[in-house]
Amino acid sequence: MTSVAEPAPDAAARPFREAVVDLGAVEHNVRVLADRVAPAEVMAVVKANAYGHGAVACARAALAGGATRLGVADLDEALELREAGIEAPVLAWLHDPDADFGRAVASGIEIGVSSAGQLERAAAVGPARVHLKIDTGLSRNGVPESEWHDVVARAAELEHAGVISVVGIFSHFANTSRDVDAAQLAVFERALAEAERAGLRPDVRHIASSEQAIRDPRSRYELVRIGIGTYGLTPFGDGTTAADLGLTPAMTLRTRVAAVRRVEEGAGASYAHIWHAERPTTLALVPLGYADGIPRHASGGGAEVLIGGTRRPVVGRIAMDQFVVDVGDDAISVGDEVVVFGDPATGAPTADEWAAASGTIGYEIVTRIGPRVGRTYLGTVSGGAA
Ligand SMILES: *Cc1c(COP(=O)(O)O)cnc(C)c1O
Repeated sequence: MTSVAEPAPDAAARPFREAVVDLGAVEHNVRVLADRVAPAEVMAVVKANAYGHGAVACARAALAGGATRLGVADLDEALELREAGIEAPVLAWLHDPDADFGRAVASGIEIGVSSAGQLERAAAVGPARVHLKIDTGLSRNGVPESEWHDVVARAAELEHAGVISVVGIFSHFANTSRDVDAAQLAVFERALAEAERAGLRPDVRHIASSEQAIRDPRSRYELVRIGIGTYGLTPFGDGTTAADLGLTPAMTLRTRVAAVRRVEEGAGASYAHIWHAERPTTLALVPLGYADGIPRHASGGGAEVLIGGTRRPVVGRIAMDQFVVDVGDDAISVGDEVVVFGDPATGAPTADEWAAASGTIGYEIVTRIGPRVGRTYLGTVSGGAA
C-alpha cells in the first residue's frame, strides 16, 4: 500500500456528506490483480466516473498500479481522460448512434466496433484503431456470430487499405454460470479462428472482466478488463469477499450525526413506522438518504453503520435525505463521525454488505452515490503515470 486512510484532523472542516476515495487502495488493487493475471495485461475499467469514484484520479492510480490500458463505455468518458492529459490507450465500446468517431480518432481513442455499420463509420474517418466485438451470448451489442464472417472479411480489406487497424478482438461474459462461460468461450474461440483466417492479427484478445479474470486463467488471453476489482469490491455473488481476494475498498462513505434523541419503548421512527423501539433507546440521525445513493430497499434489511467504533443497526425507513440508527444506551453526540461503508479492516461495513442488505450488488451501491456527496481523495499515486 502506498497510502492509508487517515481521518482528517479537523472533522468539522470536512464536507457534510463525503465519499473519501483512497487512491492508494486503487493502485494496490490493480497491482494485486495485475500480478494475478500476468502475463496478461490489465485494462482498468473507469466508466461511469470510475464506478462513482472519480474517473481521472482513479485512471491515474490504476495506471500507477500496473494497468496498461483504460476502458470506458462511451466516447465522452474517453475524451474526459484525454482532456485531463492521460495518454494511455483508451477503449470506448458503447456508442450513441451519432457518436463522432472523427473526434475519437483525432484524440487517439480506440473504438469498440459492434456492427458492420460502425466498422464503415470508423473507416470513413480513419485511420482508426478498432477492437471488433463478437456477441458470444450476452445478446447486448457485438457482431452476431452469423455476421462475423462478413465483418472480419471487410475489416481485413479496410485494414489492407490503411483506414483501420484491428488492435483487438473482444467479447463480454454474461456472468451466468461456469457452463455458460464455457459456451461463450467456445464461440469466442471460433470467432478468433475466423478472424485469423481472414488475415487479422490483433494485438489483444479480451473477454474476461473481474470475475473470470480472477478465477479462470483460460479466459485471460492477452488482456483482461477489470472494473469492480479496481475499486476493491467483489465481483462474486457466492460469498467470496473482496478481503478474501486481497482487495481493499477504495471508497469510504462518511458523514456526521445530525441529531440525537432518547425515545421510550414503543416509539416509532421514520416514515410509516415500520420499526418501533423495543426498549428505551437512543436514536442517531444520519444525514444521508436515497438522494445520496443510500438504497431505500435496505430499510429493514439489516444494514449497519459504524459510529464510535461500533456497528449500529439502521432502523426504520430510509428517506430521501436521512435515516435513523439505534445506538442503544451509548453516549453518541451530534457531530460524531458516521461511516456508512468503507474498508472492513477498520471495522466499517462494506458496500458489498449494503448490497446484500438491499438485494443488489456492490457495483450499484458505489456507482449511484449522488451529487450532494463531495469526493475527497486520499493518497498519492506513485510512479510516473500521474
Ligand atoms: C463494465 C464492463 C467491464 C468491467 O466489469 P467488472 O465486472 O466491473 O470487472 C468489462 N467489460 C465491459 C464490456 C463492461 O461493460
